[in-house]
Amino acid sequence: MLLAVADAVIAAEPALSEADRNLGDGDHGLGMQRGFEAVKAKLETMSGADGIDKLFSATGMAMMSSMGGASGAIFGTLFRDGGKALAGREVFDGAALAVFLRAACDGVMTRGKAKPGDKTMVDALHPAAEKAEEVAGAGVGEALSAVAAAAEGGRDGSKAMIATLGRARTLGEASIGHPDAGACSVVVIFRTMSDFAAA
Ligand SMILES: [Mg+2]
Repeated sequence: MLLAVADAVIAAEPALSEADRNLGDGDHGLGMQRGFEAVKAKLETMSGADGIDKLFSATGMAMMSSMGGASGAIFGTLFRDGGKALAGREVFDGAALAVFLRAACDGVMTRGKAKPGDKTMVDALHPAAEKAEEVAGAGVGEALSAVAAAAEGGRDGSKAMIATLGRARTLGEASIGHPDAGACSVVVIFRTMSDFAAA
């Protein structure tokens, strides 16, 4: 599943770069591409026997050490903190998804000092985490489908927001009309997980 996420984020580079060009410096897609190339190289040295917590946290560490910049720290934190919270779990089910997303969202909000409404990736990640707790009793396919839809709703909601933090914080009302590029990346990640589970 993480390899599928890596391929999807790498393939989404043009769209993610375009999203960042609309509100920021345009480097987000290339940073995410670089990060997930490093993730693929790392995961190729691991196996399912390493445990789901280690696979997720190694994904985060690979992003942190390869991407640089705010996105590397923040997206790396998403996977590292989410992964650490899965220690001792052997199955990535709806309950594990909820635990992963709660820890990921808390870690990202602490690291980035962002809250919902700032027009950052938190605007996709926070509703995804809330939804995951609602559907924690469902199978992972159903839970991921609901989480991906919540992330998409959050990304779309970020279009109308005035940025108070992150890439577009200096644009004021000129930031209205475009979604945050980090929120777009969050959608690619969870939509791909959902598609993978459904395949
Ligand atoms: Mg940027």
